[in-house]
Amino acid sequence: MTWAELTSHPPSALQELHDNRLSQAGVRLWLKRDDLLAPAPDDPFCGNKWRKLKYNLLAFRAGDYSAILSFGGNHSNHIAALASAGAHFGIPTIGIIRGEDIATPTLLRARKDGMALHFISRSAYRAKHQPEEIEKYRQTFGAIYLVPEGGSNTLALQGCAELATETVTQLGFAPDYLTLPCGTGGTLAGLAVGAPAAVQLLGFAVVKGDFLASDVEQFLQASGQTAPAIWHIQPDYHCGGYARWTPELLAFSQSFTKQHGILLDPVYGAKHFYGLFDLIKRGYFAPGCRIVALHTGGLQGVAGFEQRFGEGWHTDLHRLN
Ligand SMILES: *Cc1c(COP(=O)(O)O)cnc(C)c1O
Repeated sequence: MTWAELTSHPPSALQELHDNRLSQAGVRLWLKRDDLLAPAPDDPFCGNKWRKLKYNLLAFRAGDYSAILSFGGNHSNHIAALASAGAHFGIPTIGIIRGEDIATPTLLRARKDGMALHFISRSAYRAKHQPEEIEKYRQTFGAIYLVPEGGSNTLALQGCAELATETVTQLGFAPDYLTLPCGTGGTLAGLAVGAPAAVQLLGFAVVKGDFLASDVEQFLQASGQTAPAIWHIQPDYHCGGYARWTPELLAFSQSFTKQHGILLDPVYGAKHFYGLFDLIKRGYFAPGCRIVALHTGGLQGVAGFEQRFGEGWHTDLHRLN
């Protein structure tokens, strides 16, 4: 992958979804396929992590740094994306990983992509963004370019703002709603900066707790930017918390894949679409409503679930046929 392919990439696909549940509610739904933004199929440098890393990679290139350092768990989509981007652009990457060295598919792949992995205790991980901790990383690793956990910083917001404008241009009008899953809220904050005022953003929380809205506010404040678009967090579809799941969630995800041929990951995408279709069924969206749902990627994480729960635990597109 070249730098030019990063700066002037074609828009990711936008496709209308046809489904009886939509026509019954009188709404239209398009999928913005950022899962297909990857330079190759199965490449974890895709989805919203691609958007969030874009301007950080360019800032690394413009500055005088030796490596990019970031943080994550041992199934982290962000770590996988950063390692892959490092391999594509010849950038040394360092991953500070929470907990023990477990051979998860994510970490195996990150190592293969050349990322140097360092494991720290859960308590040390909680303190990772403290200035004195960051100073220690600088002393140990030299002139590092630091990206916070999940990739959420002001430059990430810029990449996600671009996703909003790209979508509106591609669609030819401003949709009534733009929906997405929320982990840290960084993607939602960026979309809120880039989307026109006519669009309402609806973020489906994949984590338990009511901190997301104030975190989004903080991302906006730190970026010094205002959000023309109205945004909400929908708290009811986390299915027990981060990376937790219910049989209903999996059943929904599997039938969605069977019907539409589109894979969803259980941590983000499945919860987003499960919640969205439930709200559609409940009449949350007025007839005539035009919705764009973001497929934010995350499919590299499925292998980790299959490692723990057995193969075929999740949807396998090929096996369904
Ligand atoms: C990281 C991630 C998210 C959450 O993005 P935030 O900006 O942290 O809210 C959503 N979907 C996928 C697939 C992700 O990997």
